Amino acid sequence: MNNPNEIVKNNWLALVDEVAEASLQAGRSPADVCIVGVTKYVDATVTRYLVEAGCKHLGESRPQALWDKAAALSDLSPCWHLIGHLQRNKARRTLPLISLLHSLDSTRLAEELSKQAIALELVLDVLLEVNIGNEPNKGGFDFFSVQAACDTIAGFPGIRLKGLMGMATLASHHAEGMQQARREFARLRELRDTLVDRGLPPECSLNELSMGMSGDFPAAIAEGATIIRVGSRLFDGI
Ligand SMILES: *Cc1c(COP(=O)(O)O)cnc(C)c1O
Repeated sequence: MNNPNEIVKNNWLALVDEVAEASLQAGRSPADVCIVGVTKYVDATVTRYLVEAGCKHLGESRPQALWDKAAALSDLSPCWHLIGHLQRNKARRTLPLISLLHSLDSTRLAEELSKQAIALELVLDVLLEVNIGNEPNKGGFDFFSVQAACDTIAGFPGIRLKGLMGMATLASHHAEGMQQARREFARLRELRDTLVDRGLPPECSLNELSMGMSGDFPAAIAEGATIIRVGSRLFDGI
């Protein structure tokens, strides 16, 4: 059982089971939780095993790595998600490759994405990254600027706001961390609900909540995650 292909396949199937279980426990349908396999830890060969095992959505945090893997795996046509910071000078090359940008973290970037999307004649789906714990070393909009950001970004043609993305402040490998992660995910969901209640600009919806990683995805699913981003868990044992 030390064949990487088998290991990845077993990890994927085990994750799918756990996601289904967490969904059912939360009274939700497993089909309502999209699993993005985060492949930043592995090369294109191992990434290929993951897609062949059944993972159709792949996430990378660096644009360059995403470009390279998208080229190497083009025959499988997975859906690519960029989950890390996008530098404005990398937008043009990245936009045609991705189905969702999770990490829109400034209105300045939104303005550039809008220009590029129009030039490329495409519409880019985006999530606003929210710095849930207001941590200085993390990217994203702080909690209190999200509403204004939504209003501004909804006015840019070529990009379509779909929801919010956030990360819990602690690695949640113990019960207490898991509790805290769950409270933080609840805050993100409540922020979303508040914004929806106040009324969103037309063209703008906040149905998607991208939250939960290897250590805390059950808590995220319990709080309404529609997308989880799982990396290390899939490559355990390689
Ligand atoms: C690396 C990364 C993940 C995956 O984290 P794991 O703990 O390895 O599952 C999820 N989201 C973002 C933004 C990341 O950078």
